[in-house]
Amino acid sequence: MPEALLEVNHLKKYFPVTKGLLNRTVGHVKAVDDISITLQPGETFGLVGESGSGKSTVGRTILRLTDKTAGEIKFKGIDIHSLSPAELRNIRPQMQLIFQDPYSSLNPRVRIGDAIGEALLDHGLCSRSEVRDLVLEALAACGLSSYHIDRFPHEFSGGQRQRIGIARALVLNPELIIADEPVSALDVSIQAQIINLFSKLQQSRGLTYLFISHDLSVVEHLCSRIGVMYLGSMMETASRDELFKNPLHPYTKALLSAVPIPIPKLKRERIVLKGDIPSPVNPPSGCKFHTRCPFAQEVCRSEIPVFRDVGSNHFVACHLV
Ligand code: SF4
Repeated sequence: MPEALLEVNHLKKYFPVTKGLLNRTVGHVKAVDDISITLQPGETFGLVGESGSGKSTVGRTILRLTDKTAGEIKFKGIDIHSLSPAELRNIRPQMQLIFQDPYSSLNPRVRIGDAIGEALLDHGLCSRSEVRDLVLEALAACGLSSYHIDRFPHEFSGGQRQRIGIARALVLNPELIIADEPVSALDVSIQAQIINLFSKLQQSRGLTYLFISHDLSVVEHLCSRIGVMYLGSMMETASRDELFKNPLHPYTKALLSAVPIPIPKLKRERIVLKGDIPSPVNPPSGCKFHTRCPFAQEVCRSEIPVFRDVGSNHFVACHLV
């Protein structure tokens, strides 16, 4: 097997909860609690879970936009969190983040060409005379036209803005792209276009994606493997086909039951979960899902289920499996 592009081992990210004038730490938000992920070059891993499951924090910690609490993150064998600021800066172009709302990261007074090209100059990846050609190439790869280069952010539609966000990442020639809910703010028809663009760019450039979404139907078309997170922990990982054919964890089954099936006769019974996701400051004991699981038993309240391989590289954390 080739060397993994990204290895995340037992990652934890806790945010302190402080109180009083002295900002005394009175607890922790356990946003990410012992997550492991491996991505081979050219692979797309879909990280799925409800809002508050910690999936975005995983992405931000991998990119060292926030410090980790424990665990290890290796990109091409390099421990990202042990790099000096200068070393981190050198490696940054190879790992890029695409946001849900690219508009919020664009300065309304800066032309798109300059917004896309500025990172090239910041990182010293080309000379000033080469920027325009590289930006035009990135725009074209993302389905935008050369005349867009001199326009301002407000002149674009939501789908076009997401294309700009992708072009901004792409121009740096990255190997890993972490896309955090990149289509959830878009209309369904535009979502399909952007997912197709991700897929096309992966084929032409051999990109590796960590694709973060709350919606299993979004990752279904793009991802070769999928991980399902709940309250900071991984509940199940499997290949896309295996997960859709044979979901084992009750939480995955509930998420899957909300995914529409193209053949109306094959109706899935909708599993509606009761209540909201609990607070990560004080997560439930034992299996974190037990407060909402329709199959919870006594053991689920007291013992944490082991995340174990049940065959075919299918891992699940549930006492019943
Ligand atoms: Fe449900 Fe128990 Fe399995 Fe958790 S361990 S998912 S509570 S059956």
